Amino acid sequence: APGLYMVATPIGSARDMTLRGLDILASADIIAAEDTRTARKLMDIHGVPLNHRKMVAFHDHSGQGEVNGLVKEIAAGKSIAYVSEAGTPLIADPGYELGRAVAAAGLFVTAAPGASAALAAMTVSGLPSDRFMFIGFLPAGKVQRETEIASLRDTPATMIFYESPKRIQEMLVSLRDILGDEREVAVCRELTKKFEEVTRGTLAEVTEAYADRSVKGELVVVVGRAGATEVEDVDVESALREAMKTMRV
Ligand code: SAM
Repeated sequence: APGLYMVATPIGSARDMTLRGLDILASADIIAAEDTRTARKLMDIHGVPLNHRKMVAFHDHSGQGEVNGLVKEIAAGKSIAYVSEAGTPLIADPGYELGRAVAAAGLFVTAAPGASAALAAMTVSGLPSDRFMFIGFLPAGKVQRETEIASLRDTPATMIFYESPKRIQEMLVSLRDILGDEREVAVCRELTKKFEEVTRGTLAEVTEAYADRSVKGELVVVVGRAGATEVEDVDVESALREAMKTMRV
């Protein structure tokens, strides 16, 4: 059917590609890809031929012209599969303007969900998953980074950050200095890949563990909320008794 299909792709292990995602890649009229080479490689691995179909590049530098062009194609009855470089489109990846424009034109938008580093990291972090907030990449500069971390200090949710191996050490130091030694953290490296590694502990411990090593690969940092590990001992009955005292009948 005509529309925009947001197709998630693997974040490391090629076999995390979903069957429905492959069906869509095999049948869409147009494949729009953040990186056409990665998309072709993925299709090759899974034996999905491109044949006569069009593959177009769509990335952060694509402007309104490209967005409008794709919206027009869908309005003319075409189906477009969009894949970002890895994982789920829009999650620290392009696709937002495109999805918004297609929806605003009253056309069909659907997702073929699949891998995302954020959720994979949340899943293995050992941190509370009842409520979480995706932050993505912090600003590169120290001042901006620390200002943003300070603004997140009291966030009542587990927080998920993406970080590059070049900056992970300074990022951990900033997190520890601002959120405190005792805050819980999990650094998740190379998820779904051969050298997958999860380092869990307090910010003091994990910052120390990461201090003197050369870090390679892709990283997600999951930070617990303030006071998440303190088990609050709420005595409901006595609290109720107190409340009753001041209640007017
Ligand atoms: N759209 C992707 C998703 O759904 O996860 C994220 C794209 S973002 C440009 C790339 C960042 O995601 C990396 O710098 C890293 O922080 C994180 N990432 C991607 N794959 C990962 C993996 N296998 N293990 C750990 N982190 C990963």
